[in-house]
Amino acid sequence: MDPSKSAKAPGGPPDREGVARPPPRWVARPSPLRHELLSSWLHRLALAHGLKDHTFCRHMFGRQGIWTRDLDRSFSGTNQATLGLWTGVSDTRIASMMLPRWAGRLSEAVNAHGNSDWILPMGVFHRVRRRHGLLFCPVCLTDSPGDAYWPWRMAWSTACIRHRVLLQDRCPRCESPYMPHRSAPSLFGRSPCATCGVDLSKSPFEQARTDDWMFQERLQSALLRGRTAIMGTPHFPLPLFLGLRALATALLSRAGEELVQRLTVLMRAQN
Ligand SMILES: [Zn+2]
Ligand SMILES: [Zn+2]
Repeated sequence: MDPSKSAKAPGGPPDREGVARPPPRWVARPSPLRHELLSSWLHRLALAHGLKDHTFCRHMFGRQGIWTRDLDRSFSGTNQATLGLWTGVSDTRIASMMLPRWAGRLSEAVNAHGNSDWILPMGVFHRVRRRHGLLFCPVCLTDSPGDAYWPWRMAWSTACIRHRVLLQDRCPRCESPYMPHRSAPSLFGRSPCATCGVDLSKSPFEQARTDDWMFQERLQSALLRGRTAIMGTPHFPLPLFLGLRALATALLSRAGEELVQRLTVLMRAQN
């Protein structure tokens, strides 16, 4: 098969009798998981066929640099349609695995390139990730086939709601960013670190505080439902996230640090 041709004509040319051939379709098609990111699902599809990610993608998309970008933010509508043909998964479902789905709820827009409010930057350099822009829960890696879920890209995420443990942003041995697309399960473990090979699914973990995971659950619910309640009054989530961002920016400023110090002194005096 000529990969570049398949990228242009996924339906395939007519056969000798002039009957159009059905579009090519992968044999193994694991279903996307709830909350799973597109990059994680693509990686699992490639592994299911014993192919490297870029080889797998070349069959569908030709020589485009799919893995040399933050593909959970930047994956064209044409590519979504092509992937749908090869997998039988609807364009709508594929789009729902991407971070731009949160535009209008998390922030006014989700940028395909550059920084985007509340989304952790990956620091893409070729196929390497230089920044700790993807979190992980070791327990999720142990009990689920997925490698990455959308809450793991949120700057406000600190805990896994399912397991109520703190999320991690780096390999505990070499401190490299989590890059599941550059590794595969092997005799050495379910989720080897792409740099040093230690099994990240066996990383030591800490329990999250109840306040942490409950706060995060509320934010996730606001995004998923498109509604939230503030002081008992229903609101759309966008003002909540804009307000939180303004508050976080203010508290992280010099004046904000002074304010926090003064409030801490006041609290101590009252106690
Ligand atoms: Zn978990
Ligand atoms: Zn490592």
